[in-house]
Amino acid sequence: MNEIEINKEISRIKKEANKYTKGTNCALCGKACTSFCNSHTIPRFVIKNIAQNGKVYNPSMTMDTFDLKTKLNVFKSNPGVEETLTLDSICRECDNMVFSCVENEEVLENEFNAKVLNLYALKILLHTQYTKIRDTNFINVGAEKHQMSDIANLISMPWVFDMIESTREIEDYKFAMKNNTYIKHKIIIDKIINKKTNFCCTAELALPFSYNGKRINNLCGIDNYAKRFGGIYTLVLPMRNNRTRIVMYYRRKYSNYDTVKEEFSNMELDEQLQAISNLLLIYTEEFVYNDNVLQSIKFAKDIIMDDIVNDPNVNNYLRKVEWLNNRQINMFNL
Ligand SMILES: [Zn+2]
Repeated sequence: MNEIEINKEISRIKKEANKYTKGTNCALCGKACTSFCNSHTIPRFVIKNIAQNGKVYNPSMTMDTFDLKTKLNVFKSNPGVEETLTLDSICRECDNMVFSCVENEEVLENEFNAKVLNLYALKILLHTQYTKIRDTNFINVGAEKHQMSDIANLISMPWVFDMIESTREIEDYKFAMKNNTYIKHKIIIDKIINKKTNFCCTAELALPFSYNGKRINNLCGIDNYAKRFGGIYTLVLPMRNNRTRIVMYYRRKYSNYDTVKEEFSNMELDEQLQAISNLLLIYTEEFVYNDNVLQSIKFAKDIIMDDIVNDPNVNNYLRKVEWLNNRQINMFNL
């Protein structure tokens, strides 16, 4: 097959896989649903604040690395605002009734209260669950069509654990919502900086090490499932008037992250921003940026694409932090 044929085949597989991913019921209210909402994890108005000509980029859209065998980026697409980090698993009613109250500029003006923290966490978890299912369906349908059973091995034990975990967390938030109560969180940082960043994110960072490299989490230990815990919710939300709201928080019961909270409290603002940028580049692809950031990000390609979550070696992590610091790659300054 040549590249055009391969791309056609990939889009056929994606189309078929998406049928399974959407499912038949809303992931939030459970009601049968035929028309799902194209819901954004990063609120649409925030993405619009940084988009240029309606476009933003995401690492998986700008770096050809997903399929190591064919060197093709199977999720390459036109990264318009409408299809950026979306999920198709909840109904329109839920998207409107549950989330619209926190997805507006006024909410970003004030410190986040319990309700806002809960709803942003829930949206991030729904997106994590949705993308895990989407990617797995893609791999399964592709494997089935091409008898590539080895590709199905990509679905590893950490994947299964992530899936159990995000489902369990979603149930907790749903339960709290039903009972008019809130899950309790601890805040690492919640402030507005006087600068509009050229990137934005609503991501969940599941860290194996604290920022300074202390082991806090065993994400791959199969025997250690009970010791696993959720992530640090990290929000960078550029606002209209050259300002950006930055919030990092985690569930109070996951006290292993207290180490990270303490480390951040000992940093100046500049160091905190560099640290957030480093953690995002090292641990996640759940952020988007505009042209101003695009070229510099490509320099950090090896850092972004390397799967450090499954790497138990703290020295590799610390080397990456040092590399980013030395080159002054800080998304808050680009
Ligand atoms: Zn619903």
